[in-house]
Amino acid sequence: MTIAVKPRPVIQVVRGLETSDGAGVHLTRVIGGPSLPMLDPFLLLDDFRSDDPQDYIAGFPAHPHRGFETVTYLLAGRMRHRDSAGHGGIIEAGGVQWMTAGRGIVHSEMPEQENGLLAGFQLWVNLPAAEKMRAPRYQELGAEAIPVESRAGAQLRVIAGTTGGGVSGPVRELITPVIYLDVSLAADGDFEEPLPPAWNALVYVVAGGVTVAGQTLTAGQLARLGEGDGVALTAAGPSRVLIIAGQPLNEPVARHGPFVMNTEEEVRQAFHDYQAGRF
Ligand code: FE
Repeated sequence: MTIAVKPRPVIQVVRGLETSDGAGVHLTRVIGGPSLPMLDPFLLLDDFRSDDPQDYIAGFPAHPHRGFETVTYLLAGRMRHRDSAGHGGIIEAGGVQWMTAGRGIVHSEMPEQENGLLAGFQLWVNLPAAEKMRAPRYQELGAEAIPVESRAGAQLRVIAGTTGGGVSGPVRELITPVIYLDVSLAADGDFEEPLPPAWNALVYVVAGGVTVAGQTLTAGQLARLGEGDGVALTAAGPSRVLIIAGQPLNEPVARHGPFVMNTEEEVRQAFHDYQAGRF
C-alpha cells in the first residue's frame, strides 16, 4: 500500500446548511452554501437522507443544467430521472449517475418510492471552458458496477479515479479529473490514501467519527484538506466517509442556479437559450 509521506492537514471544517431545493426536498448543502461556496472544481455537495416522505416526495421536477456535471450517488432508496431528450432510468441504492450536462439538459429527478429511507449525495463537478458546451452524456452504474477494495479495517467503494491499491472506478473518460471514494472503516481503523498534491481534496463524514491530522470530525462535517500528498485518518468507531478530490480548473466561475459558466454574459445566454427552448 502506498503510504502518504506528507499527510494533508485540515484547513477548514464545514458543517452543511439545512435547506430545501427542487419542489421542497429537505437536504443539507455541504458545498455551495455560505461557508464553502465552492472547492474548485466542485460547485456543490448535497447530502439528503430521510425516512419521512414529506422531506423528499416532491422531488426535483423538470429543471435545466448547463456547464458542469451532476454526480448522484444513492445510499438508499430509488430515484427516477427523465430528460428532454427522452433519456430516462432509475438510480438504485449503491448506484451512481454521472451526468455531463454540457451545453444543456432539462431533466427531472423524482423519488421512485412513496415511503422508506431515501439517502444519497449529489456532487456538481465543474467543466473546463472548452467543454462547457459539449454534447450532454450519461454514465449510469449500478451498485454491482462499483468495485470494492478491501484493506485491513477498511472497505472502499471506488466510484471514480484510481486508488493507491490500484483499483479504478468505473466512470470513464473523466473530463475534469476526480477521485471519489466511499470508505467504510472498522472501529479504530487507520486509513491512508495518496491524493495528487495539486488537487483540492475533502473528507466528508457520513457516519461515525474520524480524526484527520489531529482534527476530530463527526457525522455531517466536511474537512477541507491542505497541502500534502495524501490523506491519513483514524476511525473513532465504525465509520463511513467520502473522500473526494479533484484537479482545480483555476478558471473564472459565473453561476446562477443551474447554470455555471465562465462569464455573466454566458449565464445570460444560458437563460436565453433555455427560455427559447434550445436545450
Ligand atoms: Fe438536476
